[in-house]
Amino acid sequence: MTAALLAQAIASYVNRAGGNVITQEQALSPDLAGLRLFDRPLIGFAGAGDSYFQELKKPGVVGPHLLLPGEWLPQAKTVISIFFPLTEAVRSANRRDMKRPSEAWLHGRIEGQSLILDTCKYIEEILQSEGYEALTPALDSRFLGWNPKVSDKILDKSNQAYYSSNWSERHAAYASGLGTFGLSRGIITRAGMAGRFGSVITQAYFEPSVRPYTGVYDYCIHCGACAVNCPVKAISLEEGKRHPPCSEFLDGTKLKNTPHYGCGKCQVKVPCESGIP
Ligand code: SF4
Ligand code: SF4
Repeated sequence: MTAALLAQAIASYVNRAGGNVITQEQALSPDLAGLRLFDRPLIGFAGAGDSYFQELKKPGVVGPHLLLPGEWLPQAKTVISIFFPLTEAVRSANRRDMKRPSEAWLHGRIEGQSLILDTCKYIEEILQSEGYEALTPALDSRFLGWNPKVSDKILDKSNQAYYSSNWSERHAAYASGLGTFGLSRGIITRAGMAGRFGSVITQAYFEPSVRPYTGVYDYCIHCGACAVNCPVKAISLEEGKRHPPCSEFLDGTKLKNTPHYGCGKCQVKVPCESGIP
């Protein structure tokens, strides 16, 4: 299968997936039934042996706990990164009240994540049906959403280093040519920053996508709008993003909306919301 055919199959899956539309049973408010979560996804490819992944192992970048593509899947050849842009309906709902997350945004985060994982499983199935092994790090039993270094210090949620997983969707996206980091540490793609990522590692070879940038912050204009929007001032032009206050705020939204949670004020009402500024 060519990269173009695979990208078409993924886009078509997301377009027709029932999970891309909020049902009456799922809707947090009756008017959210029928809400469409994601627009057409962007897809990028990176070589599994790309030296960029090796760089991430260095302390101070991500760290030695990050597993390389070949550590997730022996003989891995390609990392496939997918960006799922949130629809205008979801984004505009989150622009209305900048102090608390909209219910539409909460759906994008929770039901949206289910669709992302389903899409990754679908990609695995396509590749496996062609005889190639494929693995989704976020679905693997070894995946940890926090820094797995066994140390009381690192396991402390007030420590910035805690917020570092053993696989990084955003770094995979950067490596796959999908976009660069912004001040808020999200990735600015050509469809903007408001959205979510998934990735699949495979033994199938696809030509790596061109990275039309050289610096990790090339697409960010450092306007500071995301810092102004943040309800807990977790972002600043001087320090970038501090994860502990953001995480504490997200935990608070979960108390009110369990099992939903979210915020995303740094991804809306900003020049990088739906395009490269
Ligand atoms: S809002 Fe401005 S400073 Fe923040 S990530 Fe976007 S472009 Fe960069
Ligand atoms: S950094 Fe966290 S708390 Fe601040 S706007 Fe972004 S998601 Fe919300």
